[in-house]
Amino acid sequence: MINKNRMEIVSNYVDSLFPDAKCELFYNRDYELVIAVMLSAQTTDKAVNQVTQKLFTDYKSLLDLDNAPIEDIEEHIKTLGLYKNKAKNIKGIAHTILTDFNGVLPSDKNELQKLPGIGNKSAGVIRIEVFKIPDLPVDTHIIRISNRLGIANSKDEPIDIERKLKKLIPESSWIKTHHQLIHFGRYFCLAKSPKCSECKLKEYCKY
Ligand code: SF4
Repeated sequence: MINKNRMEIVSNYVDSLFPDAKCELFYNRDYELVIAVMLSAQTTDKAVNQVTQKLFTDYKSLLDLDNAPIEDIEEHIKTLGLYKNKAKNIKGIAHTILTDFNGVLPSDKNELQKLPGIGNKSAGVIRIEVFKIPDLPVDTHIIRISNRLGIANSKDEPIDIERKLKKLIPESSWIKTHHQLIHFGRYFCLAKSPKCSECKLKEYCKY
């Protein structure tokens, strides 16, 4: 595993490349972010944004979503993979927030994971975005980068990588570095054809 000095080099580099990195999911209300994060499983933020604008215009509240016919929700999101299951989750999220949390989104990580389709990573993203609580959720991009740069190994689960990164990065930088690593994976250190020839981390990279 790399040390804090090496991690600082990585953090500074992604900071220089993506100083303004932020969440790219479209939302206005806190529960809309929850739904967008749930929908983003195994698809791109861009694909999610293409369906949520209309979804959130047609269903303007948690109650609207809770009462919506499941077929209508499916119709709105049918371009996404796993849309039938995701439609159930949308209604389940609305219903759970209304009935179990009195209509107020909880900030507690365990409580958030009671919402259908929301696991540890998604709960971390919601805490960062809605509540500005420092966290460092690990997605597919961060897993790939961590393996390539020797932060993690192929046997590590996402939660192991999250723990390692949290030890290497000061808590005050968790949110910023989380966004910047995702941007680095999305636009630079891509799964296929990463931009290695222009990458300043080449000498530390196992790829
Ligand atoms: S050298 Fe290539 S694979 Fe390694 S971190 Fe840079 S872009 Fe990614």
